[in-house]
Amino acid sequence: MKRTLTVCPYCGTGCMLYLVSQGGRLVGVEPSSTHPVSRGSLCVKGWNAHAFVHHPDRLTSPLVREKGELRPATWDEAITVVVAGLKGVQDRHGSDALMFASSAKATNEENYLLMKLARRVFATNNIDHCARLCHSSTVTGLTDCFGSGAMTNSIACLDDTDLIFVIGSNTTEQHPLIGSRIMAAARRGARLIVADNRRIRLARHADLHLRHHNGSDVALLNSMMQVIISQGLTNLSFRERRTENYPLLAESVAEWTPERGAAVTGLTPGEIVDAARLFAGASSAMIIYAMGITQHSHGVDNVRCCANLALLTGNVGRNGAGVNPLRGQNNVQGGCDMGALPEYYSGYQSVGDPAIRQKFARYWGGSDLPATPGLPLTRAMDAALQGRIRGMFIMGENPLLSDPDQTHARLALEKLDFLVVQEIFLTETARLAHVVLPSACYAEKEGTFTSTERRVQLVRKVVEPPGEALADWQIISALARSAGCGGFSYDGPSEIMAEIAVLTPQYGGITYERLAPHGLQWPCSTPDDPGTPILHREQFTCGLGRFSPVTYRPPAELPDEEYPFVLTTGRTYCHWHTGTMTRRTHLLDREERAPFVEINPLDATRLGLREREPARVTSRRGSIIVAARISTIVPPGVLFIPFHFVEGAANLLTNNVLDPESSIPEFKICAVSVRREA
Ligand code: SF4
Repeated sequence: MKRTLTVCPYCGTGCMLYLVSQGGRLVGVEPSSTHPVSRGSLCVKGWNAHAFVHHPDRLTSPLVREKGELRPATWDEAITVVVAGLKGVQDRHGSDALMFASSAKATNEENYLLMKLARRVFATNNIDHCARLCHSSTVTGLTDCFGSGAMTNSIACLDDTDLIFVIGSNTTEQHPLIGSRIMAAARRGARLIVADNRRIRLARHADLHLRHHNGSDVALLNSMMQVIISQGLTNLSFRERRTENYPLLAESVAEWTPERGAAVTGLTPGEIVDAARLFAGASSAMIIYAMGITQHSHGVDNVRCCANLALLTGNVGRNGAGVNPLRGQNNVQGGCDMGALPEYYSGYQSVGDPAIRQKFARYWGGSDLPATPGLPLTRAMDAALQGRIRGMFIMGENPLLSDPDQTHARLALEKLDFLVVQEIFLTETARLAHVVLPSACYAEKEGTFTSTERRVQLVRKVVEPPGEALADWQIISALARSAGCGGFSYDGPSEIMAEIAVLTPQYGGITYERLAPHGLQWPCSTPDDPGTPILHREQFTCGLGRFSPVTYRPPAELPDEEYPFVLTTGRTYCHWHTGTMTRRTHLLDREERAPFVEINPLDATRLGLREREPARVTSRRGSIIVAARISTIVPPGVLFIPFHFVEGAANLLTNNVLDPESSIPEFKICAVSVRREA
């Protein structure tokens, strides 16, 4: 038996664990007792992180479509077909007819290389990844207020804080080890406010549970700030020393009296006043949020409000405080850091800045790089339908299940002249591809992941990939070389990281040698920089913290006579994302086998729905049949469906309306009807 320390491939918490192997196969998992986040524990997904790796469904050879069918091919043939296909689209329709989708499940080095391939080889900034679907509003909103779009503090700050304000995060289900740390903080006496329409597990431990209407977060937060200002509870010295734009904020929230806030949120004025006073009265307060506030057509505004609240009360730049977005996937932070974004190179360096472009062009070799920001992934689907995007390269993502309005996504993908999918399993999206490239999973390659707290950690190879599968970085390098481009010959991922460090200020001091055993938190600029557990201590990345006033906008689609229920979607404890890995893990699949809809008992009785009986849920975009789960977790008038299940795909129903600034879809609210299915 051999134990190898590596990083959990699931959520952004970033637990490290030991993969136990024997005779070239994984046989189990052990937690790391010394890791500062895991601390000897794992959630059920972490305990089962080995189980999907040797699944018989793994892709073992490249597949090329011929006469409508996918057939096995050699690597030489597949690489030739991919390069010819992408070059063909480029020659016929221009570079910007191509779209590259990177992956929050791939390593930093692989995200960096795909970004380099898109920009250097195919001359397009059309590169994005699934942060577009979860935290693009965080990047825009927090960059606007603080100059940096990352979690400001560390998970360990939960041990020292006086108050935790959880808004839009079902933390015990999505980020279980952070959830249990919040519960431990509550047990030791930290105050806990939970703002969530559903009665989630954390709500049982809360001093105050705010069940505000879905999509009314701006109204709630503006009203809390109105109370804080009108009752003289702001942190005056912080405000004066460290912030700008305060008068604009004060003016914008002045009309948001608790009564007005109550009318929009469905709370009582007293609840809003209590929340405001509790938050402002804490000696240190952490805001924890996730996709419950980011996945809205006003997601950026929600994030800005959180930042405004923290600035108003001086809760940034110190221990036990901060604005802390919890990243959903293992390396969604790294995907953003590495520039798998249409407007940034690695380190959030703008493609519009000529000096930055020159820096990358000089290092990469070759001529000018494209200057115009590319298309966000969510807008690329529309562009594909309109014939503006003709070729797509998707690495390690399954947009057919994860995008809103699945019918729209399918039509867009089917319309492409050329689709390449690089994957570990033949996903729903891969089945549509012209070429499928089999890749190694996290246990079969080296590299780094960056967790939600900006902790860059080593991923280690434990077993060989199945059949002819290769690591994503090897495939991308081979594609670039086959396209005749130099600068893609690497001995291994550590050499790619050395290049990242040269070009990316936040990663400037990161080397593989320095990452053992438990990683470094960026910014880590120089070889002797110990990393940065807390951002914005002396000054914000943008200098002064910038208050950013927000005007309330209601959700794009509200219930009406025809569709009288609010549908919200999310994850469950046992599954992750589109279920590609967890549904191939026996124990996890056994625990949660099928899709369901949570419905309040009052609604269920009125509609004649019984527990586990089939219910048809319909929106303007589609209809699915799922089992009824009758529960007071949801209030009357609200339904919840997890989005992991292809046979009851919640995203057939969701609304693909986008936030105008971040292009994130409004996954968290749409109008539906529900009835008993005969
Ligand atoms: Fe893995 Fe997240 Fe569970 Fe930790 S909390 S074991 S990172 S899924």
